[in-house]
Amino acid sequence: MTNKLKYFIGNWKMFGDFSSFKIVHKINQFSHKLKNKHKIKIILCVPNTLIYFFRKKLKTKYISLGVQNCHSQQDYGPFTGAISSLMLKKAGAEYIILGHSENRAEGESNQLIKKKILSSLKQKLNIIFCIGETFNEKKAGKTFSILKKQIRNSLAKNFNVNKILFAYEPVWSIGTNKIPKIEELEKIIKFIKNEIKKNYKVKKDVKVLYGGSVNSNNIRLFSFIPQIDGFLIGGASQSSKKFIDIMKNYYK
Ligand code: PEP
Repeated sequence: MTNKLKYFIGNWKMFGDFSSFKIVHKINQFSHKLKNKHKIKIILCVPNTLIYFFRKKLKTKYISLGVQNCHSQQDYGPFTGAISSLMLKKAGAEYIILGHSENRAEGESNQLIKKKILSSLKQKLNIIFCIGETFNEKKAGKTFSILKKQIRNSLAKNFNVNKILFAYEPVWSIGTNKIPKIEELEKIIKFIKNEIKKNYKVKKDVKVLYGGSVNSNNIRLFSFIPQIDGFLIGGASQSSKKFIDIMKNYYK
């Protein structure tokens, strides 16, 4: 088992209320134990309605908290119902998911995601930038060109990519129980890392996570790919048991 830092990030999606703090609490306690044994970073990206409450309730913070999207305008403005990166930062977010395929499906373009990334970088938020192809794009052999386009059209040359964690999330894998073949995934992760190193100023390693139907059974398969720096976990992160079992099995 590798001793490289690994990220386990929960994307709660549209889930949770104040009573869900018990999930956060259990994961926080578990993180405390695991941190003595392994280099691990646990982040929970929760709905905007919960970030401030969880932040205040969490007395000893072994995990980090984040959110899942923002408006492209950086501070305040006439955008009814919208929340900016500044407001999220003030509410206690340290991380933000951007470019998730569920948001792309509602019309987010690479250009709009670029504005959101810029506004979040200005607020010094750490970004979890999701990229990935649809099933039809995969079938048409377009995976690499789609990933390239999503990266180039959303990241300007002068963006600080060192504040970005890349999450490869094939759209056909999200919430479907389907996962990529290990050899394919290995190639894609390497491709993303090379793409970033080639085109941007990178200080340290490029961090690339995998996301899509990760669970406590299939996590062992992924643990054999050392290039993967961690996981973005959707459905399974809404249960402390499921999320904790994923981490336990990863390090078994
Ligand atoms: C996600 O929403 O980012 C995700 C990976 O979902 P799931 O784990 O449920 O497939």
